Amino acid sequence: MRWVSRQTATTKMEIYVLPLLIVGALGAIGIAGYKLSRECSCCKERLKWTHNCLCCEQDICSKCGTEMSVLVRDGTRLRVAGFTCPGVCTDKVKRRDRDSIEKHDAEQERLRKRLDRISKVRLVSVNFSGPQKPITGVLIETGWHTEKHIAEEAARQMAVDGYDADTVWYVKTISEKFPGTSPKGRPYYYRQWKVTGEV
Ligand SMILES: [Zn+2]
Ligand SMILES: [Zn+2]
Repeated sequence: MRWVSRQTATTKMEIYVLPLLIVGALGAIGIAGYKLSRECSCCKERLKWTHNCLCCEQDICSKCGTEMSVLVRDGTRLRVAGFTCPGVCTDKVKRRDRDSIEKHDAEQERLRKRLDRISKVRLVSVNFSGPQKPITGVLIETGWHTEKHIAEEAARQMAVDGYDADTVWYVKTISEKFPGTSPKGRPYYYRQWKVTGEV
């Protein structure tokens, strides 16, 4: 009998406690929601969905802010999409965008010129019978490459990037066989190339 009454008491208690729990939970959700919502620095409305201004990072709603689409140049993302406070922040971001485009274009031009210059580096063979470099230069040596033309390209790159030079003199293209093992465990030989010269 005692067991039964205790059960009844528990059930009764649940009847009173459950609504309180629900009210408590709803309250907690409400507080969390209020905390999650942020006040727009422009219209002062408290909203769940706000943005951070791309310039000053203040909270701004999409109604008040100026929408800025993503800034892309030659497939490179220079700035993410977002919103800016109307006025000063929008102007600042637009100016910043123009600067980053200019900087990006200048960098692309520099890279293009470098590649163009590298492609034009003259490789003068050690066997060349014409005039060679009159004074002793700096010896350069590439690493081993799987293809002859890759080794030559590496020498051209070394000349431009490392020595600001447009000609490599006394060029020797060396090839050697290296031992390797096939996936089936069979030994085999493969050829590699390197270039030495003087800049
Ligand atoms: Zn607003
Ligand atoms: Zn702003």
